[in-house]
Amino acid sequence: MFHVKQSSYDVIVVGGGHAGTEAAAAACRIGVSVLLVTHDRRKIGEMSCNPAIGGLGKGHIVREVDALDGIIGIAADDAGIQYRLLNRRKGPAVQGPRTQADRNLYRASVQRQLSQYENLIVLDAEVVDLIERSGNIRGIELADGTKIKGQATILTTGTFLGGVIHIGDVSSPAGRMGDGSSTRLADRIRDYNLPIGRLKTGTPPRLNGKTINWDALDTQNADDEPSRFSFMPQKTLQKQISCGITHTNSKTHDIVRGNLAKSAMYGGHISGVGPRYCPSIEDKISRFADKESHQIFLEPEGLNTDVVYPNGISTSLPIDVQQQYVTTISGLEFVEILQPGYAVEYDYIDPRSLDSRLSLKGMSGLYFAGQINGTTGYEEAAGQGLVAGLNAALQVKGDNPVHFSRADSYIGVMIDDLITRGVTEPYRMFTSRAEFRLSLRADNADQRLTGLGITSGFIRENRKRVYEDKLKKLSSLQTSLESVTLPPKEAGDLGISVAQDGVRRNIYEYLSFPGVSIDKFQKVIPSIADFDKEIVSQLCNDARYAPYLARQSADVQKLRDDEAVTIPESLDYSGISGISGELQDKLNRIQPRTLGQASRIEGMTPSALTLVLLHSKSASSRAS
Ligand code: FAD
Repeated sequence: MFHVKQSSYDVIVVGGGHAGTEAAAAACRIGVSVLLVTHDRRKIGEMSCNPAIGGLGKGHIVREVDALDGIIGIAADDAGIQYRLLNRRKGPAVQGPRTQADRNLYRASVQRQLSQYENLIVLDAEVVDLIERSGNIRGIELADGTKIKGQATILTTGTFLGGVIHIGDVSSPAGRMGDGSSTRLADRIRDYNLPIGRLKTGTPPRLNGKTINWDALDTQNADDEPSRFSFMPQKTLQKQISCGITHTNSKTHDIVRGNLAKSAMYGGHISGVGPRYCPSIEDKISRFADKESHQIFLEPEGLNTDVVYPNGISTSLPIDVQQQYVTTISGLEFVEILQPGYAVEYDYIDPRSLDSRLSLKGMSGLYFAGQINGTTGYEEAAGQGLVAGLNAALQVKGDNPVHFSRADSYIGVMIDDLITRGVTEPYRMFTSRAEFRLSLRADNADQRLTGLGITSGFIRENRKRVYEDKLKKLSSLQTSLESVTLPPKEAGDLGISVAQDGVRRNIYEYLSFPGVSIDKFQKVIPSIADFDKEIVSQLCNDARYAPYLARQSADVQKLRDDEAVTIPESLDYSGISGISGELQDKLNRIQPRTLGQASRIEGMTPSALTLVLLHSKSASSRAS
């Protein structure tokens, strides 16, 4: 990468954030020529807000992107300075790997990984317009007037499109503090009459760690055994650090409450909707008025910096008020604010105007990924970037798209939620969004997805070898475990508490019983000791969930069957008697491409779905 520009590329990616880098890398793995245009290459992979990757649901997406040979998992591992497996005491299906990340190491890793793609060119420039030919997008125009042709263009402009940052009643155009805003591109996109809305998000002030009284604080340590993100062999672990824990108190709340009218969020300066699940301190104090205190994690932003991110107090209050309320908090009495907290408001595209490739319906050659689609978070952005990058490149090559389903991945759940239901607030992933979460575990993302990537030809040799080797070992261990059967009496003799029902079971089946550990079978199958700890632990997880998966298989099959029933493009649902006017409008706007997607439209009824099917069948037969 990093060469001079030429005048034409297969795929052009606009934006070098978490969606853009993943999109560019994915398109490269398909084997097309890719141009990544971004304001400033030094900021490629910048973490705009919290210095952490993963969490509940989000960690699953990171593992999935890694399983598909993406960037984010390796970058998180290169930069991970405090690994914690969230929900450790619950089952693997809802555990979320998370790590705090050193910002500089994270950025360096993303840039290093991109530099490995020989078919990628990176250009520092601002994109201000799209080149349109007969309703198709055929490239971009830069701020200096240069036009560059591209068969497919992916917009991943994050919070920059029409971005305005707010601190109290002061506002200025910017996509994030210290950067410009994409105002000209936003104006042009409005000219195309795309469905655009406004959203907002916020970030806390950054603190000088040298001025924090760490001795007064509780601490949170990293896990003893880190849950790494990448399925690839692990490099050396970075030094692991602790976070400080402190709390707001009644004085903090009084100051915030007394100044709410000065907050950009509450003072009427912002029209966009904010993330309910990531509330600002103003939100917390207004919405949870009876709570006397809120927890704050003081997270160092890296190994060689004094900057600290106080997780839990994002704000858009004026700077002097931020200074006042922060110094009421234990440990922060004399703290120096290095950068004030702020809110950012930006344009997003209604994702219901996209199809499952994240391509704009009705205008060929234009894809959208990341925060621009109404999501929030690095992980959600990365997942979408991967989908858009793969599909844009496949479109250029004339190959079939890759489709991610709700039954195979959180990526599939997210894409389906976005294009079917749209967003009313910044969309964030949770495990509760996935109906098949017992099978969509973070630990088995490679078993769910790497094979699909190999078949579609975008997994590189190295990873393919690692994956195939793992599958062989898993299969060999499973065969050993299935080859030995024991009656319940003998199982009981090994210390396993199981109903004495006389049914002989193999060891793999016994492992699905609650509390049964593989150690108990060591004497019966000594070869267990020959397998790596990770392989044994993975197979135990697979065994534990096998009966649930068998039970859920009928539902998965129903979903797959409904997904296989396609609906023709651009159907007009107006006037179909038996479907309410409101539902007709939704169907016309969303234009579901499968019966499964139609079934998930809010307000859909079984009888309306039958009519959709009939209408679709008669349209198909008229067309043929
Ligand atoms: P970004 O990472 O924003 O990347 C966009 C890229 O596009 C940038 O490199 C930019 O330079 C480039 N670009 C934009 N326009 C152009 C143009 N016209 N020409 C060339 N290049 C262009 N996430 C959370 O999960 N929780 C939070 O609490 C949270 N709070 C946030 C608070 C703030 C203030 C901000 C800014 C972000 C916050 N985020 C939060 C969001 C997180 O940073 C984003 O979700 C994530 O970075 C989105 O990735 P992206 O790739 O879509 O966009």
